[in-house]
Amino acid sequence: MDVSKKLLIYSELKVSKVKLGDMTVGSIQKKYLPCGKSNCICHKDKRKLHGPYYFLALQDKYSKKMKFFYISQKKVQKLQQRIKNYKKFKKDIYKMVKLEMELKK
Ligand SMILES: [Zn+2]
Repeated sequence: MDVSKKLLIYSELKVSKVKLGDMTVGSIQKKYLPCGKSNCICHKDKRKLHGPYYFLALQDKYSKKMKFFYISQKKVQKLQQRIKNYKKFKKDIYKMVKLEMELKK
């Protein structure tokens, strides 16, 4: 790849980084859960569990344990987009740094 091509890719990555918007780490998990009523069928039959309920799964930085935060269904799509943005950001930043090193910027 020649230098002008590299410079072009570099500036495109820079622009897309600005356009990415909000980002989120973690992943979204769907769960079916039993309810609080002890006489409900969900406690006897696993196929009758309630849900789906959505959670943002985050790994604790220190304990490395997974933590789950409940999210309402209407926020799922927004968070999925933010996770996608973050993944693209990580990929782009890698490419940008590599280009920076090669171009000695
Ligand atoms: Zn139930």
